[in-house]
Amino acid sequence: MSIQNINVALIGNPNTGKTSVFNQLTGLKQQVGNYPGITVEKKLGFCKLTNTIKANILDLPGTYSLNASSIDENVVIELLLNKNDKLFPDVAVVITDVENLKRNLLLFTQIKDLEIPTILVINMADRMKPKGISLDIPHLEEQLKTKVVLVSTRKGFGIDDLKNQIIDYKSLSTEPCMNASSIDEEYFDKLRKAFPNQLLYKLWLVITQDVNFLNLERNEIRNTFTKSHSDLKRLQQKETIKRYQFINDTLKIGQTIDKTNATDLRSKLDKVLTHKIFGYAIFFGILLLIFQSIFDWSSYPMDFIDATFADLANYTKNYLPTGEFTNLISEGIIPGIGGIVIFIPQIAFLFLFISVLEESGYMSRVVFLMDKIMRRYGLSGKSVVPLISGTACAIPAIMSARNIENWKERLITILVTPFITCSARLPVYAILIALIIPNNRLFGLFSLQGATLMILYLLGFGMAIFSAYILNKVLKVKTKSYFVVEMPNYKLPLFKNVAINVIEKTKSFVFGAGKIILAISIILWFLGSHGPGKDFKNAQQIVEKEVYTSPLKINPSVIPDRVSEYKLEHSYIGIIGKSIEPVIRPLGYDWKIGIAVVTSFAAREVFVGTLATIYSVGSKSDDDLTIKNRMESEVHDDGTKVFNFATGVSLLLFYAFAMQCASTLAITKKETNSWKWPMVQLIFMSGFAYIAALIAYQILK
Ligand code: GDP
Ligand code: MG
Repeated sequence: MSIQNINVALIGNPNTGKTSVFNQLTGLKQQVGNYPGITVEKKLGFCKLTNTIKANILDLPGTYSLNASSIDENVVIELLLNKNDKLFPDVAVVITDVENLKRNLLLFTQIKDLEIPTILVINMADRMKPKGISLDIPHLEEQLKTKVVLVSTRKGFGIDDLKNQIIDYKSLSTEPCMNASSIDEEYFDKLRKAFPNQLLYKLWLVITQDVNFLNLERNEIRNTFTKSHSDLKRLQQKETIKRYQFINDTLKIGQTIDKTNATDLRSKLDKVLTHKIFGYAIFFGILLLIFQSIFDWSSYPMDFIDATFADLANYTKNYLPTGEFTNLISEGIIPGIGGIVIFIPQIAFLFLFISVLEESGYMSRVVFLMDKIMRRYGLSGKSVVPLISGTACAIPAIMSARNIENWKERLITILVTPFITCSARLPVYAILIALIIPNNRLFGLFSLQGATLMILYLLGFGMAIFSAYILNKVLKVKTKSYFVVEMPNYKLPLFKNVAINVIEKTKSFVFGAGKIILAISIILWFLGSHGPGKDFKNAQQIVEKEVYTSPLKINPSVIPDRVSEYKLEHSYIGIIGKSIEPVIRPLGYDWKIGIAVVTSFAAREVFVGTLATIYSVGSKSDDDLTIKNRMESEVHDDGTKVFNFATGVSLLLFYAFAMQCASTLAITKKETNSWKWPMVQLIFMSGFAYIAALIAYQILK
């Protein structure tokens, strides 16, 4: 028995319920990927329709029309024009929202003109009664030359009906419902004569759209049928007007709306939630609540994960035969995987909140509220969530930038988010501030140390906004900015949508960025636990000899610590640390700090731990006080303090600005689908950090 595969594409305006229908059809049988070269999410899912028919369901980005103004819309057009695409739809399912039928049908008529079998889904049918909407389905089917399926993913009806229509797709009419040539008879007549074998509306799209369409001789068409830009625009407008005329005529009989029953809760809520003062107050209240809970709630699972992986590492170390392989597992792989898993609680909680806010319709109000302010800096209203989430961790924050449709705004948001002070900077700040800022009160009120911490937060935020402003001027990314605020209705979030969104985001982090994080931790482990030459290999003997022959009668209990210090010094990382000394000397750092700077590239908080190891405070050293005392008493050869004010400020500035986080680079690579942007981040941020630290040290020393 052979299995038949059908390609089904879900197409529709944003917020009409494409993803909900997709989730209903596929359950968790989904794959998320990026379209090659760009980073609009592509979701492919599978659905077994009968024993012999399987459907590949493609959830496409929201589109208002086939007159592309964004990358997302290009994606849809390219798929629909390219018959050779693996995923070229056998049947297109256009999803519409019963409350916005008129606007939604514009896209439907365009797709219908491409003569692809098309099913019209009218979703949110549960809203018909409260809104007083009734539909004449047979009339709509006749006018639109298609099958109409009434669906409510919320109430769960219509999905089986949709499946049956998909199975039956061969019986659908492919006749266009509008005649493209009515846009400009004369022009289209010529087109038809020149390319008799091609679909007229397809030709028209090839002429007007900037898409990579390879099958047709695009240049040939364009050269012979070129028109001025303004002429094309005029024709496109004419097309839209014609289409709306047709839709209006169709709906005149096909749809009746009785407004007397409609409730007005929505406009009342909108008035408060987008209010000039209350709107912001409520938004910041909600944010406060969310981030408080992210910090509080995720600290439990994070501590648990931390402890579990530490136990696991210990366990493998104790029970596996000693040797290189065991070390790789217990010191490289297990902590590496732990370093990925530890992010999961924060990612899951953040996306839980975000999807609830989105699903409920509230997020659109926030975007509306913030858009004017953010736009001044090349960001969008939707950048608010990533920027604020960045205070917890840049990883989920950068992932949450996916909601930004405009590619340039999204890119800028991704690039500047790591400037925001994340929680990994806190331990570094805390210890450095304690070292160099006296614990005094200003005017007997503000603690100087607290004020310093606040300044560091403000610096990070200021840098993010400033770089966004610069990037907005510099970046030459081709996007046409359009601003359509979708104001969907308020709804209770669908649990299934929220759950799938959380699982999907977490999966995409673990399997996308996770791989890179793991690789980098293994490399750092290798560099830190291996060294060239005899010094590294014979560390034990060398240290023992030194201790036992020393005239100072050194207590042998320090030997293990001294050995690890000696090993680290002569490991590859130690050698790197020493060899970069000339570069970091002008910032006021010695080679030991250099090692910490290198290792903390894996994650900023490693800085403190590394210094602890180097200063051989021993393994019980995560107590700040002991490390602090050690750092305080650390002196240069000439007896001056290592952590003086100038060096401390220089380090603070360095950690405020430098891209000291391999995981962030990994997630940026994943989200932008290119190594170019993480490299830009690395060079720009760390370069800036270097200069800032240099200037600070040279002035203060
Ligand atoms: P997409 O942008 O087209 O992928 O739309 P989504 O699937 O993300 O849905 C947008 C919003 O509409 C979400 O808040 C859904 O919960 C909601 N929604 C989806 N289907 C229905 C439905 O049948 N009835 C109602 N009332 N809301 C729905
Ligand atoms: Mg969607």
